[in-house]
Amino acid sequence: MSSNSAINSTEFTSEQKEYLQSFFGSIAQRGLTPFVGHTAAGLITNDPASGLPNQGVESEPLWFNAPASDLSREERWKFEQDPFTIWEKLLQYSNQNQPPTEDDRFRIKYFGLFHVAPAQDSFMLRLRIPGGILTTHQLRGLAQMAEDWGSGRADLTTRSNLQIREFQPKDIVRVLNRVQSLGMTSRGSGADNIRNITASPTTGLDPQELLDVAPLAEALQSYISNSPDMYELPRKFNVAFDNGGVISVVADTNDIGFVAVEVGEGRNVPAGIYFRVLLSGITGHRQFAADCGILLRSDQTVAAAAAMIRVFTQHGDRTNRKKARLKYLIDSWGVEKFLCETEKLLAFPLIRIPSSECEPRRPIDRAGHIGIHPQSRSGLHYIGLSIPVGRLPVAQMYAIADIADRFGSGEVRLTVWQNLLIPNIPTPHLAAAQQALTNASLTYSAGTVLSGTIACTGNQGCRFAASDTKTHAVTLANLLDERFPILDRPINLHVTGCHHSCAQHYIGDLGLMGVKVSGEEGYQVLIGGGADQDQSLARELIPAIRFTELPAKMENLFAAYTQRRKSEES
Ligand code: SF4
Repeated sequence: MSSNSAINSTEFTSEQKEYLQSFFGSIAQRGLTPFVGHTAAGLITNDPASGLPNQGVESEPLWFNAPASDLSREERWKFEQDPFTIWEKLLQYSNQNQPPTEDDRFRIKYFGLFHVAPAQDSFMLRLRIPGGILTTHQLRGLAQMAEDWGSGRADLTTRSNLQIREFQPKDIVRVLNRVQSLGMTSRGSGADNIRNITASPTTGLDPQELLDVAPLAEALQSYISNSPDMYELPRKFNVAFDNGGVISVVADTNDIGFVAVEVGEGRNVPAGIYFRVLLSGITGHRQFAADCGILLRSDQTVAAAAAMIRVFTQHGDRTNRKKARLKYLIDSWGVEKFLCETEKLLAFPLIRIPSSECEPRRPIDRAGHIGIHPQSRSGLHYIGLSIPVGRLPVAQMYAIADIADRFGSGEVRLTVWQNLLIPNIPTPHLAAAQQALTNASLTYSAGTVLSGTIACTGNQGCRFAASDTKTHAVTLANLLDERFPILDRPINLHVTGCHHSCAQHYIGDLGLMGVKVSGEEGYQVLIGGGADQDQSLARELIPAIRFTELPAKMENLFAAYTQRRKSEES
């Protein structure tokens, strides 16, 4: 069925028909390929030559730029039914306490719900928390949900986000309703969507920052929420905003990383604060995001992100999941073609300026967010807590909310290191806040392996995992802290359960990736990774070792490092 005949069908009122005609008209005017969508009457197809809706010609339906017959399995599911239209089925799964079919399991991820069979017969909820900034009201509400219907804890993630596990099918609708009632959303936090927008966790607090980027993360989230085509990507997509300050958001691991920089007098643009744009970071595929040669004003960043995402949506690969990330589109086109296509969707030209024209980014302190730190506003401090592998029991969630209310400003910040901060604590309240944290068994000491350890879900909740990452990570970190109590440099241990690399094992000082060794849980061991100013992909040290043999190996490795390293050697 052509779009014209679909639009002219009797299902639509004359007003709706007029709207649809003008919608397609405006898309064609902007030089965009009309996306293929669904109507109650069936599929709209488009003509690949002109990019316009077909005029009554029967042809194979296209899903964006790919014939339907070539689509990957997941694209086929999206093509057959818009994931957001399965609300009624969600009610049915919920009412009948029934696990979803495989295709619906994928579609349900669009709501931020993950059915985690066979690891567990339950759902995990992943939220969206732009910039990782939460109110205490929201934190308490999430704790209540985890207590009433979930596993009694939350997991902090490497995208400044929060997951709650073990919801039964019967509870999923009320879980989504509760999220909304907290003024939050989980929409688009899974499957082929733009993931939680991250920002430097100390943005707006950091005395060294160039610009508070929290409003930009919130603005992009708001844009996504209000733009249906921002949910039509071929694959997941990560965006980060770096404030140019002392604490990292690992912008170079994102598909788009906006990094605040200073431009001095005498350059081709007025002096001021701008953003460099890093593209195509995907460390699981062994690639950091690289500077693409443009400079943006802060008020251009959201529009530029949306335009880049639209180019990716229109031209990304929908036939091979392994090649469906932004990296592969840019690999095949080159950066300049990608920027030219982006520019066609923008109302302003992109300013090409080499990064050498900007001041270098200020140094980053890798573990600088743990502990007590003064803020830019005199008399205020934030306390960075170490939350081992991001596991946060509800009792501690309530305690953190109470402490942030009593001594701070009712705000909590999540980091990309599976940790969190309580900001805005006046100097006279610091001692009492510290005591309250200690009473709740919450620690804020830096300089331990445990405080720099992150781990993905592992085989306790993910079907891809070869090993119990969280348990093993804590065991190893505790052992190393006991044996080597005084570390003068942070050591990052990244433990990931499989090659998907959710815990980014390629950027850890030590990276472990789960593998089976003769049927037992084990790891590939990598060493020497880093991000930002220490950017480096970790290299393999041991191809595969049983976990039972790993603690002794790690002890030997640390002993050799502490005894033989040159001064300041990481
Ligand atoms: Fe699961 Fe693999 Fe991601 Fe770990 S890295 S959470 S095992 S997909």
